[in-house]
Amino acid sequence: MIDTNAETPTRTWRAPPLPDAPARHFCTDCGLSRTDNPRRCGQACQFIQPDYPALETRIHGRTRALPAPGELGSDELFFGPHRQMLQARLAKPLAGAQWTGITTRIAEKLLRAGEVDAVIAMAPHPDDAWRPMPVLVTNPDDMARCRGMRMGYAPLIALVEPALRQGFKRLAVIGIPCQVYALRAIQPELERDLGLEKLFVIGTPCSDNTTTERFHHFLSLISPHPEDITYLEFRADYHVEIRMKGGEVRTIPFLQLPLSTLPPDFFPTTCRTCVDYTNALSDITVGYMGGQGEQWLLVRNDRGQALLELLGDEVVTQAPGSAGKRAGAVRGFLKNVELAAGGLPLRRMPDWLRPIVGWLMPRIGPRGLEFARARVEMKAIETLLHLQREAPARIKTMVPEHVVHLVRPYGLAREPVPPKP
Ligand SMILES: Cc1cc2nc3c(=O)[nH]c(=O)nc-3n(C[C@H](O)[C@H](O)[C@H](O)COP(=O)(O)OP(=O)(O)OC[C@H]3O[C@@H](n4cnc5c(N)ncnc54)[C@H](O)[C@@H]3O)c2cc1C
Ligand code: SF4
Ligand code: SF4
Repeated sequence: MIDTNAETPTRTWRAPPLPDAPARHFCTDCGLSRTDNPRRCGQACQFIQPDYPALETRIHGRTRALPAPGELGSDELFFGPHRQMLQARLAKPLAGAQWTGITTRIAEKLLRAGEVDAVIAMAPHPDDAWRPMPVLVTNPDDMARCRGMRMGYAPLIALVEPALRQGFKRLAVIGIPCQVYALRAIQPELERDLGLEKLFVIGTPCSDNTTTERFHHFLSLISPHPEDITYLEFRADYHVEIRMKGGEVRTIPFLQLPLSTLPPDFFPTTCRTCVDYTNALSDITVGYMGGQGEQWLLVRNDRGQALLELLGDEVVTQAPGSAGKRAGAVRGFLKNVELAAGGLPLRRMPDWLRPIVGWLMPRIGPRGLEFARARVEMKAIETLLHLQREAPARIKTMVPEHVVHLVRPYGLAREPVPPKP
């Protein structure tokens, strides 16, 4: 890992060198295995034996309500415990942000208000702007350097204990769900043994992550000049947006993406079977899926509410909308995952039909919260089907009850359901 300390006169921007990660199956290198006590992975890993009800209860005071037999699930089944959901944007979007920059702005405000001593977040690696690099930030101005999304994994949690040992006892961490799970699992130990006084967790949803190397391959398939792509987002209107160095902006309908040419292992098993799309253990989740073209906030507890209030009138909010019906789209997705998991060719749409369906989807497909519910159900379906095929022994310990409830309306259960005679 590159030490960028020398680059900053203020020395408030640190990416400390870390030990190598031991090889582990089902691991996204969240950073715990690089600490002094890597054996903690056994209890603290999202992929081994997660206990969402216990952690949700500890962090939010309650776990999400699961539906009784025959009942439909509430939004908490899909998105985890929350006090309110909002469609939101910064009135003045921040340059370089993935959306309008709510995530980094909250952290910047925490530092400016003296509420935390340091923020741990991901910055672009100096050698490759798409590669995430964990950094410890103490100067609020440096949060601007963390804006934007990188694709890949980097050991964020490995920075937490060194920060505490340096005397930064009040921390904010910005992380994706598999990182936040490990952090929450070891939080009592950090409080007891290392004097952690305050922890704010700003989470983003996460799905379909892959290694930075594979992501570069994907970029090469969508542009003859992949090196000039500075921004990419899978938007909720079924388009991928890419921005180029010269300022050009392109949108590509999902259906026109060259996904069929990607190798089957393009998305690692971890990201195909991850069980917490919406980062249920964060204090506030900042995403876009339910935001109808804007950002989407899930305020989960008092601490999350205080984080939102830090933004004051910089943030413009409204109740999120919801339209369309997701069941058909989710069933079509299920069919394709079943074929792919069975090694069979996917049901492909004829080329002539793609532009028509690509035009129709943003207009009649699920939108707003219904789009977010659809994505969460699709993710739960993927998790179960891929685990049934690739690692069935893990299902019992790795798949939480809420995922089983999410797939039940589509005829799936922990055990594969035998085909009807
Ligand atoms: C791999 C990935 C997949 C995502 N998928 C979805 C999705 O399906 N649906 C959805 O609603 N949102 C998703 N998000 C979140 C979304 O892209 C935005 O980051 C989020 O909405 C915040 O926007 P912003 O403008 O407030 O962020 P900014 O203010 O620009 O800040 C972005 C923050 O993201 C962090 N970050 C960037 N890259 C990484 C990384 N590789 N690993 C960990 N942290 C990182 C940085 O620390 C930074 O603080 C995903 C994010 C990632 C990293
Ligand atoms: S806790 Fe983190 S480092 Fe340990 S196995 Fe899980 S993802 Fe890997
Ligand atoms: S998809 Fe899940 S496992 Fe993969 S990086 Fe995101 S949170 Fe981690």
